[in-house]
Amino acid sequence: MYRTHTCGELRIDKKNETVTLAGWVQTVRKFGSITFVDLRDRYGITQLLFNESLNGLLDANPLGREFVLQATGKVNERSNKNLNIPTGEIEVAVTEFKVLNKSAVPPFTIQDDTDGGDDLRMKYRYLDLRRNAVKRNLELRYAVNRSTRNYLHENNFMDIETPFLIKSTPEGARDFVVPSRMNGGQFYALPQSPQTFKQLLMVSGYDRYYQIVKCFRDEDLRADRQPEFTQIDCEMAFVEQEDILQMFEGLVKRIFKDVKNIDYNEVVKRITWEEAMWNYGNDKPDIRFGLEIANLKFPKHAFPTREALNPNQNKAGNAEHAALESDFAVFNDAETVLAIAIPGCSEYTRKQTDELVEWVKRPQIGMKGLVFIKCNADGTFKSSVDKFYSEDKLKAIAEATNAKAGDLILILAGAEERTRKATSDLRMEMATRLGLRKNDEFKLLWVLDFPLFEYAEEENRWVARHHPFTSPKPDQIEVMINNNPVIEDASKYLEHPYSNIKANAYDMVLNGNEIGGGSIRIFQRELQEKMFAALGMTEEEANHKFGFLLGAFEYGAPPHGGLAFGFDRLCAILGGSESIRDFIAFPKNNSGRDVMLDAPSTIDDKQLKELQIKLNLNL
Ligand code: ASP
Repeated sequence: MYRTHTCGELRIDKKNETVTLAGWVQTVRKFGSITFVDLRDRYGITQLLFNESLNGLLDANPLGREFVLQATGKVNERSNKNLNIPTGEIEVAVTEFKVLNKSAVPPFTIQDDTDGGDDLRMKYRYLDLRRNAVKRNLELRYAVNRSTRNYLHENNFMDIETPFLIKSTPEGARDFVVPSRMNGGQFYALPQSPQTFKQLLMVSGYDRYYQIVKCFRDEDLRADRQPEFTQIDCEMAFVEQEDILQMFEGLVKRIFKDVKNIDYNEVVKRITWEEAMWNYGNDKPDIRFGLEIANLKFPKHAFPTREALNPNQNKAGNAEHAALESDFAVFNDAETVLAIAIPGCSEYTRKQTDELVEWVKRPQIGMKGLVFIKCNADGTFKSSVDKFYSEDKLKAIAEATNAKAGDLILILAGAEERTRKATSDLRMEMATRLGLRKNDEFKLLWVLDFPLFEYAEEENRWVARHHPFTSPKPDQIEVMINNNPVIEDASKYLEHPYSNIKANAYDMVLNGNEIGGGSIRIFQRELQEKMFAALGMTEEEANHKFGFLLGAFEYGAPPHGGLAFGFDRLCAILGGSESIRDFIAFPKNNSGRDVMLDAPSTIDDKQLKELQIKLNLNL
């Protein structure tokens, strides 16, 4: 037997018991004729005491960091207790020990605050994983996994595996492909998600499916993406959107309880995609704080159904001309003018406002400037556009922005898309600066009614905003079927009725991150064919790529829908981290490389030949 206890287990009640521990040497501290060794394993750290009789042995064969050691001895009460660690009241007075393995000097210290940089830690990830900070993340990941499985099991979901070697049907992201040796010249693809399989399972009658599953997307890795990542993938039959929203907010609440001991009792807020874009400038708003955007001027095409929106914001929108009217060319020429009232910041100094102007001019934000209005505590106003706006006008703008005395109004103007995105970024930046984005506060949100289509101007065709299996809102099916998707003048796509079709699609947002998304699916062959046609696929192409699904829909497909959660991201948010890599045991770097394995790599000529592949790297 290698050990009787773990290094995290012994307490004062075991005093005088003889125990054997095994683990890694964290530190060695020599004091004359005695030596203290901190022995570490997955469960904790226990102090070992080597007295005079063993010290000679240690002198002859010194213990180094990360040596694997087995030690037997008696549990002692420590004279110098360390109440910061659970085992800090005891130590083991070693009578016998054995070095089970030596270790080279590790390239960085195995501590919470390590001296290893990112690249080094990734190269020696097996050492990095010994660090407490990383271990805690993996423990959290496992807790989320268990909680998910328990909840879904209790709700009758069945975990069913689906294949990894499938057919390439790129739509959205690029596929990773795998050459087939037995079928020369042909390729499998790795699944971007098990989407069509889970739908087939619904046709087969497994009406509640889930899988915690790897998905593969060959995308350029924007910040914090991984080419292989994990989803909690779910599908249900005989459900409407409401059933799905309730089932899965239940799942997230359960995870909060099991993993963070948080009782999330409040009703999960629901807003439409249009409201999200209108009030927050993006489709995954962080609603831990307000700072809503006021739409002072907007292009006609931006949100065709804006009547449905929050009346306050409409009021702000309707005030556009009255409040903004002046000779100020920047506002007059802009497609959009958007403002946010920042509470309590009216006393910003010139230096502070100049710095904000520089901030919006950074290339990532890309604005030409920033207008500000200080709403002074005494009811007066001071702005960077005093020349163009009288006190009365400034007051009208302040009202339209819902600003109060003491607030600082920040205004951005320009082309619709860029300005809205920049205002959203500015909102998040100001919230960060004001300390409104607290790691320990969690706010869930459903964003509903996404557009069904997006127009890909480069390809001159419609693409599915979620995926091609997502159903349109029932009252808009006719609009989809009865209109020709082809557009003569691509720049006028916003005038095409397809721009206004909304989908039965929903995203779950947590603290400004999309953590999950899904839809109610199309389940009739005819409508699915119409959808493929709308996306510019010929009948032949649709049959070649998705014939299996169209075929299945002929044999009694039930109404169904589902969603998938980004498992890595959910874990990262619950762990209070920005980076999903910290929650993946063996992640890839930003160029999609595994620096530990040094993959991807070339393969030898024999392998290429077997696959009947000839490389031509100059193509
Ligand atoms: N398969 C979808 C995705 O990966 C999720 C879903 O619609 O269920 O985004």
